[in-house]
Amino acid sequence: MNDDQLLRYSRHILLTQVGIEGQERLLGSRALVIGAGGLGSPASIYLAAAGVGHITLVDGDRVDLTNLQRQILHTTATLGEPKVESGRQMLRHFNAEVEVATVDHRIEGEALSALVARADVVLDCTDNFPTRHAINRACVRHGRPLVSGAAIRFDGQVGVFDLRDQASPCYACLFPETADPDEERCAVMGVFAPVTGIIGTTQAAEALKLLAHVGESLNGRLLILDALGMRWREIRIKKDPGCAICKDTGTFGLGVV
Ligand SMILES: [Zn+2]
Repeated sequence: MNDDQLLRYSRHILLTQVGIEGQERLLGSRALVIGAGGLGSPASIYLAAAGVGHITLVDGDRVDLTNLQRQILHTTATLGEPKVESGRQMLRHFNAEVEVATVDHRIEGEALSALVARADVVLDCTDNFPTRHAINRACVRHGRPLVSGAAIRFDGQVGVFDLRDQASPCYACLFPETADPDEERCAVMGVFAPVTGIIGTTQAAEALKLLAHVGESLNGRLLILDALGMRWREIRIKKDPGCAICKDTGTFGLGVV
């Protein structure tokens, strides 16, 4: 780190759990943020400000006036622009040292798999079950830690699936792909703006901890927020031995691509 970096990241370096070593891990890390909306905005901003060296933003949408109530990567000035372009500009304002790559369309299949394979951590900031399951499958396949968030109305959820460890549950152990999804997307439903901030920021905290090797992750637990009463609940997520997605992860479970 040069002198400017030592100053910029000094409040991380002062944390004994992070220190210079942890900060250097962040600078050398690659995060994949899928979804540049309500969750992806605060998540990517904190990753960039904290010095994660390389961030890939994925989103196929353009900035719409209805987004601005909560999607703080975007502003009135970037209305109509691709969200990933708007997001890249904002992240550069926070920290121009961070390399930001963008994908301005929905990805699936091998393209998604290749992006996941190159990431050290994957943040699922999307709002629909088919995409969530596709991301989970790629993370299982490549043994990548998945930090998953969701927000709707006054409710939020956040969990970590550390798929580097084959004993960890995957997203499909919690929400099987065969389940009939009672899907409610905040693209069409109401959502209380700060709920996306609280959940997205929690995703950033978990991603940074995983990347810097700090503390105990949320792996195997799901936090559920009721912001109307401002109460959190925690549930344990068990690995489902019959899970169709992660039961045969022996080959890939420890990050072997
Ligand atoms: Zn599973």
